[in-house]
Amino acid sequence: MQAAPADQQRLLDLQALDSKLDQLAHRRRTLPQLAEHAALQTRASQLRDLLVASATAQSDLAREQRKAEADVDQVRTRAERDRKLLESGSAGARELSNLQSELESLAKRQSDLEDIVLEVMERVEAADNRTAGLTKRREAAEADLARVTASRADGLASLDKDIAFATSQRDLLAAQLPADLLALYEKLRAQYGGIGAAAIKQRRCEGCRLELDISEVNEIRAAAPDTVLRHDSCRRILVRTPESGL
Ligand SMILES: [Zn+2]
Repeated sequence: MQAAPADQQRLLDLQALDSKLDQLAHRRRTLPQLAEHAALQTRASQLRDLLVASATAQSDLAREQRKAEADVDQVRTRAERDRKLLESGSAGARELSNLQSELESLAKRQSDLEDIVLEVMERVEAADNRTAGLTKRREAAEADLARVTASRADGLASLDKDIAFATSQRDLLAAQLPADLLALYEKLRAQYGGIGAAAIKQRRCEGCRLELDISEVNEIRAAAPDTVLRHDSCRRILVRTPESGL
């Protein structure tokens, strides 16, 4: 393939822009805020789930507390009724003894139920504390998430600006190159890890970093300036520059 030396030089500029674009795309993919954002989102969502569970536990406990308190009330009402009957003096001797023994067992029952109420109240307090703690943690996670979301947007916007600028430069340059040279470069770039054209610097291929041997150097020296050179070792396009050491 033949190409004007100036076009061969432009190919190196194009390669530099393409490599820069590859780096920018890599930075965009691996922006630390992306991983941070994903981790915070997971944490915020876990905390939301825990809060839902905690709120459910709270409402179950509230129901349990109401039930226990109603049980105590029921026993208390019954005992009151018994005491009134007792005090009215209208009960016979047998009924009197029955009332007294019932009052004793009601007192015991009331004390047991009051213990249950206290125990439930302790659990209610623990559940309230847990919900309050989770709420604080969720608020902190959501504040972090908002901060990282903004920082991620800034980071992406700045990279996108650089990418847009480099892309427009790249497109202008590509439009100036002969179609066959550009097509060969694109093909090799896709094939060889993003590098399709490389300068020769101090008799070394900048694409694969191998030093050219003497027969390669001689071949290159003998080649016409318009000849598009390829490196035998890495197959990339080789471009001669003033630093080639030929
Ligand atoms: Zn090479």
